[in-house]
Amino acid sequence: MKRTTLLLIACLSLAIVHAQKKNKTWEKIGNSITAADLKKHLYIVASAENGGRDTPSPGLENAANYIEEHFKSVGLKPGNGDSYRMFYPLYRDSILSSSVKVNGNLYELNADYQTGNSNYSAELPFSEAVFAGYGIVDDKMDSYKDLDVRGKAVIVLEGAPADYKPSQSGFQNPSGTFGKLNAASKKGAVAVLIVLKDFPRRPSVSQSNWNLNGYRATINPQLFYISKNIAESIMGEDGKGVFDKMTASSLKGKTYKANIDLSFRKTTLTTQVSNVMGLVEGTDKKDEYVFITAHYDHVGRRDTLIFYGADDDGSGTVSILELAEAFAKAKAEGKGPRRSIVFMTVSGEEHGLWGSAYYANHPVYPLEKTTVDLNIDMIGRIGNDYMKDKDSTNYVYVIGDNKLSTELTPITEKINSTYTKLKLDRKYNDPKDPNRFYYRSDHYNFAEKGVPIIFYFNGVHPDYHRPTDTPDKIKYDLLERRAKLVFYTAMEMANREEMLKRDIPMDSQRAF
Ligand SMILES: [Zn+2]
Repeated sequence: MKRTTLLLIACLSLAIVHAQKKNKTWEKIGNSITAADLKKHLYIVASAENGGRDTPSPGLENAANYIEEHFKSVGLKPGNGDSYRMFYPLYRDSILSSSVKVNGNLYELNADYQTGNSNYSAELPFSEAVFAGYGIVDDKMDSYKDLDVRGKAVIVLEGAPADYKPSQSGFQNPSGTFGKLNAASKKGAVAVLIVLKDFPRRPSVSQSNWNLNGYRATINPQLFYISKNIAESIMGEDGKGVFDKMTASSLKGKTYKANIDLSFRKTTLTTQVSNVMGLVEGTDKKDEYVFITAHYDHVGRRDTLIFYGADDDGSGTVSILELAEAFAKAKAEGKGPRRSIVFMTVSGEEHGLWGSAYYANHPVYPLEKTTVDLNIDMIGRIGNDYMKDKDSTNYVYVIGDNKLSTELTPITEKINSTYTKLKLDRKYNDPKDPNRFYYRSDHYNFAEKGVPIIFYFNGVHPDYHRPTDTPDKIKYDLLERRAKLVFYTAMEMANREEMLKRDIPMDSQRAF
């Protein structure tokens, strides 16, 4: 009884603290963010012409141009020196040629062999190869027992003994390709020839995916997949019916003499993509910064099927367009923010938070002078958990406001209770939540550098990462309200006397 009463009093006093007088100027400017404008922009950003905005793609570049033109037209300054773009390179490997020759006999690509990875260009001549069974090394078995494969080529069979139970799954599975490659690498092999049952095979892709890094952290042995024909030409009589012999346990690890010439040539292709950056310069605290981010890329297309990415993250992108316009308007009317505001739409999010990672590692503005990053990723829809909820049209998930700064939550609460009155759902701040959303969008690259962040999110829904995430399904009134929450929060953070205190240790965010 007492406890409840006390709690009630506590709640009431909390509510009183939150009841602030509205700043009429802010409210007037905030009201320039409208559902109609958001809609107009989103039908362009998430259009069929932009083709799903994969990184890199012409559609992505189209979207970047649109964002840049908008920043210019509303009067934002370039966010990166004299440019609205921050370009960064991407790399991909492209196979030029390969060959496998055994005792002078040249084998045909796809008919008898395929290359497995694209480490480095090399000509590798061997006078022998070591057969190492299934090539499995774990707690219970070691296919390399009593074999010395340092500097040599090893031959292993695909698969595992019938009674084999892998200790780990996925990439870590010791009987999978990576597990075998890894084991051979640890044993010092230079090349791994994995015998596959089913040759000929369909041609495999000759180019890797685009990547943010042009280097490789580890150099693995060269991997080739070979047919039973090639195995036989190296192993002679032992190689005949090699899979059956292995099943019957009549084959042991052994070195075979043969002239084996492996060749692999690749080149590295590069391209440029960009983040789009605009600046509203602050007044007396212009050397301190509020960042507002959203990713403008999505996952592209599959054949003729376009993944529009209207919610993910067209909704965040167009929110930034509207917020930029609102802040530019405030500035033009002499009511501009004290701190500078940087509007940054990033690319490459869907491939691994590339654009924000690049920015965090090459910051234009000092990260220690960046008071906060407000990141918007998917705020135009109603997520699965709210579809049948009474608050379905009036909520947003707030993520990460319990980390790095104790001031994030009270400011958010105060701003929301004064202006937007959304239901703020912090369910995903639970460290036990399996979705781990805190780690899954661009703010995380800021948080990792110690910059306090808030991530605004509507939750996943049946159209998430499907071609059906289209602009007609967006709840524009709800999008407007959520964008306004970010606007007023940014206003408050840009104008308060001190930067946000960084009073929660970095370690806490890695608690799970
Ligand atoms: Zn996504």
